[in-house]
Amino acid sequence: MIARQPMLSEKRIAEMQLVKLKRLVHYLYNNSPYNQKKMEKAGVRPEDLNTLEDIARFPFTEKQELRDLYPDKLMIASEEEIVRLHASSGTTGKKTVTFYSKQDLDTWSEMMARCLTLAGVTNRDRLQITSGYGLWTAGAGFQAGAERIGALVMPVGPIAMEQQLELMIDFGTTVLVSTSSYALLLGEQIAARGLRDKIKLRIGIVGSERWSDAMRLQVEKLLGIETFDIIGMTETYGPGTGLDCKLHDGIHYWADHLLFEIIDPVTGIPCQPGEEGELVVTTLNKQANPLLRYRTRDITSLIPEPCACGLTYPRIKRLVGRSDDMIKFRAVNIYPGQIDHVISEVSGLSSEYQIRLFRVQGRDVMIVRVEAEQGSKLSNEQLASVLQKQIKITINVTPDVEVVDYGSLPRSEKKTKRVFDERE
Ligand SMILES: [Zn+2]
Repeated sequence: MIARQPMLSEKRIAEMQLVKLKRLVHYLYNNSPYNQKKMEKAGVRPEDLNTLEDIARFPFTEKQELRDLYPDKLMIASEEEIVRLHASSGTTGKKTVTFYSKQDLDTWSEMMARCLTLAGVTNRDRLQITSGYGLWTAGAGFQAGAERIGALVMPVGPIAMEQQLELMIDFGTTVLVSTSSYALLLGEQIAARGLRDKIKLRIGIVGSERWSDAMRLQVEKLLGIETFDIIGMTETYGPGTGLDCKLHDGIHYWADHLLFEIIDPVTGIPCQPGEEGELVVTTLNKQANPLLRYRTRDITSLIPEPCACGLTYPRIKRLVGRSDDMIKFRAVNIYPGQIDHVISEVSGLSSEYQIRLFRVQGRDVMIVRVEAEQGSKLSNEQLASVLQKQIKITINVTPDVEVVDYGSLPRSEKKTKRVFDERE
């Protein structure tokens, strides 16, 4: 899929983006009274967009607006053109809904097929999709992309571990599609049951939650696979908007379909290339409900340098966390990703940890509880002291650190909850 199309130069990608962005702002202005009103309020018209940088003058789209426009006020294309909807779970408030035209579904499966091809998946592979089907985007997205490249799809979904393992062994699954929490759980179960020789997995496509380098290593070791980090969210098609290449140095994204910006999450001002901030996504080709400057809350940075793999699609760093996950601790702002990065660098620790926050006599207390690796040479107390020092040096806070035995923290089939804030 990637190999078959001529490689676009960075300049050509930027030119395409500008043409598509101009078309998009006109489309929104003319077909969405809601967006027209927003542009008028911000004092801009479609004609004001002459360079890619001009996008900074246009209004953002916030998650809350998507909820306010529930159920179908986001639809811009006509009823006749729209063929499907998906929705994400509404843990707080209403679900966020995404609509698709036939062309939108085609774009989505093309992006997914590019991701799978970049990971080395071919028409000789068998994919076991453990992600959710139904209103969720994950199952349907992976299935369409995999079928597009001719791989054999096993649309299993989230079923009991026992059956999952049985199918994996009986059909000789070569590619696992799952969350990182589930991949870890699966790996540990395979090790515990001594099934490692019976599985034929070679690739893991892992997404839907941020995961640490340590967890990645652990999953790769347990399952004997190479893993690829896939990104994407329901609001912008679903999974498949980007993937890390074999060099695993940042995530390539499909800039001919999506425009990425990084902004300061507090001021909304665009960041310098390479600077860390909030990822803002504009869907350049979407018809059914395109989004202009959607604030994802994901924290990352653009990588200005071209990738050594030769692919000219630009890259972002792996996600550090979400702006909603930011922990304010004794006047320091911390993302859980910074903590798990330090944990990854201390040898003798496993990938599993929890951060607990309390307030004792008006003072914030943080406890980092982390598992030791199996067979670690240092005692739990020694490991705790090393980690505490490293966190102090790297993040400039001093939490209480407690190292527990391997396997004693809870595992999750879905997304693992790691931060427990019990402060008022
Ligand atoms: Zn690359």
